[in-house]
Amino acid sequence: MPRDLVTQYFEAYAASFDLHPRFGETVRQVRRDDGHWLVEATSTCLRSHHIVIATGNNAEPIVPDIAGLGTFRGKVLHSADYANAVPFAGQSVLVIGMGNTGAEIALDLAEAGAHPTISVRSGVHIVPRELFGVPIQLVGMLATKVLPQRANDRLFPIVLDLALGNLEKHGIRRPKQGLLEQIATASRIPVIDVGTVRAISSGAIKVAPDVRRIMQTGALFNDGTEVELDTVILATGYRPSYPKFLQADVQPVRGGVNERASALRLYLIGFHNPVTGLLREISREAMRVADDIMAVERKSHR
Ligand SMILES: Cc1cc2nc3c(=O)[nH]c(=O)nc-3n(C[C@H](O)[C@H](O)[C@H](O)COP(=O)(O)OP(=O)(O)OC[C@H]3O[C@@H](n4cnc5c(N)ncnc54)[C@H](O)[C@@H]3O)c2cc1C
Repeated sequence: MPRDLVTQYFEAYAASFDLHPRFGETVRQVRRDDGHWLVEATSTCLRSHHIVIATGNNAEPIVPDIAGLGTFRGKVLHSADYANAVPFAGQSVLVIGMGNTGAEIALDLAEAGAHPTISVRSGVHIVPRELFGVPIQLVGMLATKVLPQRANDRLFPIVLDLALGNLEKHGIRRPKQGLLEQIATASRIPVIDVGTVRAISSGAIKVAPDVRRIMQTGALFNDGTEVELDTVILATGYRPSYPKFLQADVQPVRGGVNERASALRLYLIGFHNPVTGLLREISREAMRVADDIMAVERKSHR
């Protein structure tokens, strides 16, 4: 969807529900104060009955401690600072990490005439965006309804090999943990392939194992191979930012609502990432949270 349409949609949405967002305000602290929540932001302070924190699962860039990174003479940036591939055309670029971000950046680089190498530390589950014409999230929803997790985790690799081909010959292994097990226990979603696999198969993107150390002009990998580099992009993930500003001991709960959230009038939305996709989950959580707020309000006015 083009950017302008997204903007128009948000503007129409805000107008339709009479919402008044305050832009350019960073929330610095949220704390309990005399039965209310006190929100301190850049230029304002608000008291509120209810708080919904939706600051994103991908809020704070994680920068790992990689041996030798400080000695590298080229450019180092986190994926959070990556806008497009134009500055990297013709360059040798190492993308560290093959989550969805790393996979898509490597593809973007390859399409723009850069020479990306993607470093894959441990195994990775990769799924196509559509499986035999059906969107993968829908496949996930149907599969989890019909079969238990273990059966799905045995079946998926067979089906995915048919759809994407065997990726081991390109240096991409599957983790020991099954696809659904990994989502359930580690909240790790698979890479949704939008063309990276094809680019890897054609050699437009090279795959390397874990980085042993970064050197002045290149990288040394765990298998002893080396590559000369102009740029290193850390696609090493993000963490939520709310622990920094929220002065309350709460954790996200599945579905967005539980007794504690109701009692505190504090809700966290968008931090639980199931196989069916975060966007779908967010809309479900949002509706539950809105219903709960209405119910709490009704009770308190009785
Ligand atoms: C490469 C990639 C591919 C993805 N593909 C899919 C997909 O196919 N399907 C899917 O369901 N999901 C997908 N996701 C996940 C998707 O990005 C999320 O589902 C969605 O964007 C999260 O929305 P959100 O509103 O919770 O968080 P965000 O979009 O991160 O919004 C959080 C907002 O809070 C603001 N904020 C943060 N801290 C503060 C603060 N202290 N004060 C004020 N404001 C603050 C931020 O500026 C931001 O505007 C993908 C993500 C990535 C990175």
